[in-house]
Amino acid sequence: MNVKLTLLDTGYCRQLEMFSIKGGRLKSIDFHAIAALIEHPVHGLYLFDTGYSPRFFEATRLFPYALYQKITPVVTTPQQSIKAQLSAHGIEAQRISGVLLSHFHADHIGGLQDFPGAKLFCFSAAYEHIKGKRGLSALREGYLPDLLPSDFEKRVTFVDHGVPKALSQTYQPFSQAYDFFGDGSMLLVDLSGHAIGQFGLFLRDQEQGDVLLCADAAWSSTAYRQNLLPHALAQFIMGDIRSYRENLKRLHELSVHWPSLKILPTHCAEVWQMSQGVFAWRS
Ligand SMILES: [Zn+2]
Repeated sequence: MNVKLTLLDTGYCRQLEMFSIKGGRLKSIDFHAIAALIEHPVHGLYLFDTGYSPRFFEATRLFPYALYQKITPVVTTPQQSIKAQLSAHGIEAQRISGVLLSHFHADHIGGLQDFPGAKLFCFSAAYEHIKGKRGLSALREGYLPDLLPSDFEKRVTFVDHGVPKALSQTYQPFSQAYDFFGDGSMLLVDLSGHAIGQFGLFLRDQEQGDVLLCADAAWSSTAYRQNLLPHALAQFIMGDIRSYRENLKRLHELSVHWPSLKILPTHCAEVWQMSQGVFAWRS
């Protein structure tokens, strides 16, 4: 079954390109945090991640969390929050049935508290890794505890507690995924590495065809096309560098043998430019 995918830019942080990709320039680039609205014809409205929101500034006011904002200065406005963007298109927050959280970095959970009625979905490995962390141990994981709703555990479903199904040859080298609705429309695949327990989402847009939202398993389209790791320093922040390498290589292989698949990294500038043409708001 096809869905409708809309990509939403929630703001950006600045980083040196040389940290994001080996051989990159000593030049500041904007790292946009893109979240996605998914409209399913039967099951309604879902979000893939929630990007930044102004709550980020509140959550980084005090030490040690203030270091986060110092290391990666963030630019976002109230109008760029997912909630505000949905509202501007006539969709109130309570219409969002569920939020899929690829992982718990602050630029993916920033808007989460704007959807208090939504069910939440993630991999248990991702949550177990950040659960209860505060202060520097949270910051080390790129996680800001104040962004997580206090009733998170009551609302969450751990997708990886289900039984994965085997994928067809088309998805090789990925061999299994969690069929979110049981209708094949949204397939969650383990992309652990950048963060432990991070997943990606295969879906088929009604106009643009097959898409893989790969979150931060690659930081740019160049990275998966050329199988290029980030700078050695940036590799330190990865949850598990070995898995990261393996999954980046898998993405590379997938892109080679399935060239029509649109692989969309969360922070890729090229994806954001392209999305304004094809994954922007459509009536
Ligand atoms: Zn991340």
